[in-house]
Amino acid sequence: MSLVRVETITYDGTEPFEVPGEVLAVLHTNHNQSRMTVLLRVDVDQAVLADPVEDDGKAEDTHYCIGMKGDGSRCTREVDDVGDRCWQHPEEDDAE
Ligand SMILES: [Zn+2]
Repeated sequence: MSLVRVETITYDGTEPFEVPGEVLAVLHTNHNQSRMTVLLRVDVDQAVLADPVEDDGKAEDTHYCIGMKGDGSRCTREVDDVGDRCWQHPEEDDAE
């Protein structure tokens, strides 16, 4: 995802010209082009996402269905919450 913004870039004439994104249009330059106002498309990933969305290694636990399979072993299907059952092991099945 990207985002377009207006940016003023100064250029001292010695460095390779580098902008933090893709220049879509030059809106204004001063007489020797040492300063330009440009329409810039920047990558949102590097421009905005200062802090990553990931929880710092503290991933949510995986919960498993509490039902029993036909052979008597614990079901290994993942469910959303502790004590939940998967579609294959509804509560009434436990009576056996
Ligand atoms: Zn199950």
